[in-house]
Amino acid sequence: MHSRIRSVFVAAGTAALINAGLSACAPKPHSLSIVGETMGTSYSVKLANCPTPDCLTELEPRIEQRLEQINSAMSTYDPQSELSRFNTARSVDWISVSTDLYTVVAHAHAVSELTGGAFDITVAPLVNAWGFGPESLAGKQPAADRSQIAGPATGYERIELRDDPPGIRKRTSRMSIDLSGIAKGFGVDEIARVLDDYGISSYLVEIGGEVRGRGTRPDGKPWRIAVEHPAIGTRRLDGIVELADLSIATSGDYRNFYVEDGQRYSHTIDPTTAAPVRHGLASVSVIDPSAMHADAMATALMVLGPERGLALAQEHGMAAAFVVRRDDGYQQMMTPPFRRLLVD
Ligand code: ADP
Ligand code: MG
Repeated sequence: MHSRIRSVFVAAGTAALINAGLSACAPKPHSLSIVGETMGTSYSVKLANCPTPDCLTELEPRIEQRLEQINSAMSTYDPQSELSRFNTARSVDWISVSTDLYTVVAHAHAVSELTGGAFDITVAPLVNAWGFGPESLAGKQPAADRSQIAGPATGYERIELRDDPPGIRKRTSRMSIDLSGIAKGFGVDEIARVLDDYGISSYLVEIGGEVRGRGTRPDGKPWRIAVEHPAIGTRRLDGIVELADLSIATSGDYRNFYVEDGQRYSHTIDPTTAAPVRHGLASVSVIDPSAMHADAMATALMVLGPERGLALAQEHGMAAAFVVRRDDGYQQMMTPPFRRLLVD
């Protein structure tokens, strides 16, 4: 089961580094936990207590099944997934899709509108061309002219949505969709829903560094998450936040990148230049009740960069923290709602 759902959302070889971004600060090893692999990375679920004697053995298959369902809807690493079939189809007719796929594509569209197109799931051909997608030769700049790649094949407004029955439609035939910037967050929200439905009210759920907390730890205190410093290899912490019915997602340029001719290329594509972002933003963390929203917004702010990203976060009252690479080290900036969630 695991081998089939490995390497789904990120290029192979990066998964081990993904968890470096955030780590749960449990005071001692946690016994009530479920761990596994999904979306090319790992997931973990920690519970404060088990309401039934068999809760872990009952929950694990439910969680695995839900994650497999999500992967078979939206993985671009599985050629048989619903999304892969949509991507390879050249049809510009309406295609009926599952509620899961519709929900994520519709939320991606809303985040695109909120961010002036910075978040754009139609960058898929560019993600591949720059060496970060399922069809990529790792660590390579595009051979073809990128304006040729982008051209009519990208632009979020060229994907149309129909809510009843759920469907999506390409305006031009060569378009494709990449949900790697939002799907992990959706997965976290859906695992949380499995736990809620089972009657569990205190848990911490994580997929590849995107985390959602509800209720309290076994010691009755809120779940705490350490926001780790983006300098590779350092364990210095940038702060600790409490997640009471909240989620945190982080996007960075330090986990999935390559260097060619002295230039650093990371996996976040700026749709306006059709190339990886060039500013000095090393990482962005966003806190929101919805992990899906936090995930997409973290990617969007990563595209916008330190000035425009911070301005947008402030304008919308979002909890966001930015780590900017400077010549003499790193600078951290955060919005007041993020600062209020930090613990001393
Ligand atoms: P991570 O996968 O490290 O958690 P993100 O959530 O920021 O990071 O997702 C980055 C992925 O999103 C990229 O690997 C790529 O597949 C996709 N992506 C890149 N640029 C954009 C963009 N402008 N809008 C939406 N998705 C993007
Ligand atoms: Mg994201």
